[in-house]
Amino acid sequence: MKIRGLDKSKSNKYPRIKIDTDIIKSNTDNIISKFDGELVGVTKGVCGDIEIAKKMIEGGITTLGDSRIENIKKLKENLDVNLMLLRTPMLSEIKEVVKYADISLNTEFEVLKSISKEAVKQKVQHKTIIMVDVGDRREGVMPENVIPFFEKIKNLKNLRILGIGTNVGCFGGILPTFENTNLLVDLTKKVQIKLDLDLSVISGGSTVTLKLMENNKLPKEINQLRIGEGILLGTSVSQNREIPYLNQNAFEIEAEIIEFKEKPSKPKGKVGHDAFGGEPKFNDKGRKKRAILAIGKQDTSPMSLRPLRNNVKILGASSDHTIVDVNEVNEDIKVGNTLSFRPDYSGLLKSFTSKYVFKEYLL
Ligand SMILES: *Cc1c(COP(=O)(O)O)cnc(C)c1O
Repeated sequence: MKIRGLDKSKSNKYPRIKIDTDIIKSNTDNIISKFDGELVGVTKGVCGDIEIAKKMIEGGITTLGDSRIENIKKLKENLDVNLMLLRTPMLSEIKEVVKYADISLNTEFEVLKSISKEAVKQKVQHKTIIMVDVGDRREGVMPENVIPFFEKIKNLKNLRILGIGTNVGCFGGILPTFENTNLLVDLTKKVQIKLDLDLSVISGGSTVTLKLMENNKLPKEINQLRIGEGILLGTSVSQNREIPYLNQNAFEIEAEIIEFKEKPSKPKGKVGHDAFGGEPKFNDKGRKKRAILAIGKQDTSPMSLRPLRNNVKILGASSDHTIVDVNEVNEDIKVGNTLSFRPDYSGLLKSFTSKYVFKEYLL
């Protein structure tokens, strides 16, 4: 049996994020066992972290997706896996896209033309999935324009069109349904018949779409899902739910107490704006024991952290400080001790982006 241990190299530095990498593996494995198709593991929430990507691969992933070419490049240089660029490429990064990404998601003719030209130059085949906007109004070709769009791109050299995909739940907050997902199936059939193109992939969506699968409402033709949040956090933030067959405890953020005092709950003096332009409002609840943590908006999303200790309440945060009410917490609160929290997707993303947060892997 393998004995698990912490990589302790940086373990006395705070703030830090602790990562239980086996949970990444088991969440991946659990989704794969329920979905009859290809699961793309999305690493953008952890900036293409190599250790986490490795665990997705151990869990059965053969394609990783990320929205940043910098992350794709890092993954390419460290792992032997197919790589999908999720964000529509910038014209200014086409050379890197063709060099490092095997597949990209696309919506613009200009971009595909440029990819094709670059692929010819680099003597490679580049694969693409065309994104269709089924209602969320973020990226995608409008459904009525799909046929003319495919007509325009079908003869581009060194470009292999794998199929059609969609994304919901990100900008417009539109949730996936059987109907809007099945639109992809209909469009795929139309393109195959009208243009005699062989499309093998119908890429159905992200974590929000798992709910359709659970309720047997996912059209059976959907043969690919691109999942980040579900694998990493076991949650679906846009549906405000914990996914019951997944584990929510892969990440823990730990911050050190730098001040512990009893203070009046209502600030005193003339009120202006806070450090981020907001107008703070406070009720007078009398004097309370409060702690200041050395973590702030430069490290994570402090207001969305979930305290792991009972009765710890987050009162507010500025760029480098987070104020917590610990009035009802009895033991262990003193300067130099730490408090732990679970991040949500935005907290996770920020913690991995911040150079001030140390990472500690339970491997
Ligand atoms: C971020 C993203 C995903 C993954 O979304 P999750 O909600 O993290 O599962 C899938 N596809 C695209 C295009 C994305 O940008």
